[in-house]
Amino acid sequence: MLINTDKFEKDMAAFSFKQHQDFLTYFDRLNQLGYSINDVENYVNERKSRVKTAFKPGPQIKCPECGAPMMVLPVNDKPSTQTRDNSRSVLICRNKECMHTVYSEKTAKDMVSEIRRKPKEVSE
Ligand SMILES: [Zn+2]
Repeated sequence: MLINTDKFEKDMAAFSFKQHQDFLTYFDRLNQLGYSINDVENYVNERKSRVKTAFKPGPQIKCPECGAPMMVLPVNDKPSTQTRDNSRSVLICRNKECMHTVYSEKTAKDMVSEIRRKPKEVSE
């Protein structure tokens, strides 16, 4: 479907061309990972409320396999999370089709503060 480019540019004048491009990349990725606009809304609201409570939004570790953000979870802290080794935490890729996992002997708390301390190495 062809749109009226002039009208579109006027209507969307608040956004740069780069933002339109970024949006497409973003939207593609969202679809690929199975997220909806609602998820983004929830995420943004959640992040905002965290900022309000003086909880600094930290950088995230990106999955070395697919680039999706990874989450830190404690392991061996209760019977249901036994890994039969000395791991105390695990990094799990949030991309359900990837699920790349990295075990660590550091505690989940240490992992999180370490990620926050080294923003240059883990953020883009
Ligand atoms: Zn991954």
